[in-house]
Amino acid sequence: MNDNLQCEIPPVVDKLRCTGCGRCVAACSSRLITLEVDGFRKHARLSAPERCSCCLACIDACPVGALRCD
Ligand code: SF4
Ligand code: SF4
Repeated sequence: MNDNLQCEIPPVVDKLRCTGCGRCVAACSSRLITLEVDGFRKHARLSAPERCSCCLACIDACPVGALRCD
């Protein structure tokens, strides 16, 4: 795998932007992302960031840009 295509830190979820669509959950082959209920909303949560390989698949899958690693 090309390291240039990886991020350096695990992605962070922008809870206000996240619609809870679940695409990032499906995209993470390591199954690190879950949907968490927060009041009347759902949002993605990275459950074990230390296991994240920073592959960017979840960021690519998000239709609203709610995942960032910067
Ligand atoms: S960057 Fe890759 S390994 Fe890390 S949470 Fe996203 S899809 Fe999973
Ligand atoms: S793909 Fe984006 S909008 Fe959908 S649950 Fe994941 S972070 Fe939220």
